[in-house]
Amino acid sequence: MNGKTALVTGAAGGIGAAIVQCLRQAGARVAVADRSVAGIDADAHLPGDLLDADYANTLPQQAADRLGGLDIVINNAGVITRGSVVDSSDQDWSLSLGVNVEAPFRICRAAIPIMAARGGGAIVNTASCWGLRPGPNHAVYCMTKAAIASLTQCMGLDHAHQGIRINAVCPNEVNTPMLRSGFEKRGFNADSAVAELGQTVPLGRVAEPEDIADVVMFLASDAARYMCGTLVEVNGGKPVR
Ligand code: NAD
Repeated sequence: MNGKTALVTGAAGGIGAAIVQCLRQAGARVAVADRSVAGIDADAHLPGDLLDADYANTLPQQAADRLGGLDIVINNAGVITRGSVVDSSDQDWSLSLGVNVEAPFRICRAAIPIMAARGGGAIVNTASCWGLRPGPNHAVYCMTKAAIASLTQCMGLDHAHQGIRINAVCPNEVNTPMLRSGFEKRGFNADSAVAELGQTVPLGRVAEPEDIADVVMFLASDAARYMCGTLVEVNGGKPVR
């Protein structure tokens, strides 16, 4: 990773912050993107709203300009909406599609030619176990994660010949604000709910952000040089049925 240049979206979130830290510790120069990136240690700060198409379309070039190149893109930002289809509003639909699918689509579309011109690169998208199999009461979220999983597989095929490896990480539950806020909204104590949920995982605990960041680092690195269009499940032994 030494001297590599990387763009990370959702850099202020639980998993994003861990990815940024890992990349920088490994010697990469990192551009961080999120709605607010104030206070994040990074080599370039690119705040903005991924629902803004112009922002997403120009983010890779902005990162390349600021870092002097773009070797790695981590499409990590995401939102979760809860409920079955009958509980889901049009706003849930457009927010979920906008952040979880359209933004990484636009970012990949803009990053691929930049990487191709440099002879290659690596993109890691964030899907979910819930993008591989259905999950209860999160129909729209699961559908967006299935969409980014499929897009990753297709892009992995289409751009391998340009030396660009495009893969996705598929976590199960991770101890981040996304998971904890869901418990809090439903009136549970987040610490005890996370501990209880951990008992349902064969490894005995819910993932910490670093557990996911380490796999993202692997996929972004040359150690994964023969992997293209792969969906890597990181679930502590607990597959979603
Ligand atoms: P998080 O809520 O801690 O972080 C998500 C980040 O995305 C936040 O910093 C948020 O500001 C950013 N973001 C959301 N909407 C944005 C927008 N419109 N513009 C710019 N930035 C925006 O969540 P996390 O758990 O770290 O999630 C990271 C990724 O992992 C997401 O794609 C999520 O779907 C996925 N994931 C999480 C879990 C889990 O249990 N936490 C499980 C599977 C997959």
